[in-house]
Amino acid sequence: MTLETLGWNRQRQSDFAARAEENLIPGRVVSEHRSHFGVATDAGELSAEIPGRLRNAAVQRSDLPGVGDFVALRRGVADGPAAIEEVLPRTSALIRKASGENRPQLLAANVDTVFIVTAPDGDFNLPRIERLLALVADSAAAPVIVLNKADLTDDAAGMMEQIATVAPGVPLHAISARAHRISGIERHFDGNRTIALIGSSGVGKSTLTNELLGRAAQATQEVRAHDSRGRHTTTHRQLFLRVRGGCIIDTPGMRGVEVWSTDGVADSTFADIEALAVGCKFSNCRHEAEPKCAVRAAVARGDLDAEHLATYVRRARAATSSGR
Ligand code: GDP
Ligand code: ZN
Repeated sequence: MTLETLGWNRQRQSDFAARAEENLIPGRVVSEHRSHFGVATDAGELSAEIPGRLRNAAVQRSDLPGVGDFVALRRGVADGPAAIEEVLPRTSALIRKASGENRPQLLAANVDTVFIVTAPDGDFNLPRIERLLALVADSAAAPVIVLNKADLTDDAAGMMEQIATVAPGVPLHAISARAHRISGIERHFDGNRTIALIGSSGVGKSTLTNELLGRAAQATQEVRAHDSRGRHTTTHRQLFLRVRGGCIIDTPGMRGVEVWSTDGVADSTFADIEALAVGCKFSNCRHEAEPKCAVRAAVARGDLDAEHLATYVRRARAATSSGR
């Protein structure tokens, strides 16, 4: 991997040269955890923290680095964490208001294109598509609408026509991620572009992400544990590099669990779980029944209290269902 495959280009190089002092190296934030960030650099992935100076200079939370940001890093001393000294200018920022609060929340930075994913089975809703289009328009990323699960309808063409009425000029694809019919959408990655997927839980974002990556990076609903509704939301935010070029950021669902899991006071109670979750096989692991779950492994070893995990899981479910 080089930074170039992650979207580093001449503009970013000149932004970096203009802002960063000597001894700093460029990188891209690829994952966000409670206490640190994973940052990809030409010298491999480093664990990095935000120094107090940057934290204090941030006027609002969304000024702080998030997944997708290009940054200037100071390497850590010995094996210590690196420090994010600068966030380079963003070409786009997917931001939303954390629900119930007035604080802007960064979902993903430097996204070139957003796939608004929808599906015919119950999710199909033109006002929702319009709301998501407005969110994308605010971000400065380009929208693409993906009607997934085209295999479930005889009238994909009719649905595409309806979508076109609220999304004039927006590229539109009918695909079936599960049936591996995704031709046409891969071109949006050309030139090492970064794509984020948004849309309701259950429309097939994880299935499509895995299909585009060519590996099972995200747990799909079959793999995730099922609650009474059988629906779940991604809980982590991560940037994946595609072997065939380009990157994918799989953001948590647009409401529900991410509101409390990435924001607010209460969730610092669960910093231990968030830290362990880095070791789970799937970045959107819910720590219920997924394979290779590092959190349940810690409970089994006696390193984590089972009741503490149960509280976390209950809160995640409550947040997911109250969001809809
Ligand atoms: P997410 O919550 O948006 O990440 O959705 P998932 O990727 O977990 O998919 C939700 C459900 O839809 C799973 O049962 C998938 O197998 C199923 N699914 C995903 N893509 C397709 C598709 O193209 N066709 C059909 N019929 N089902 C799909
Ligand atoms: Zn887990």
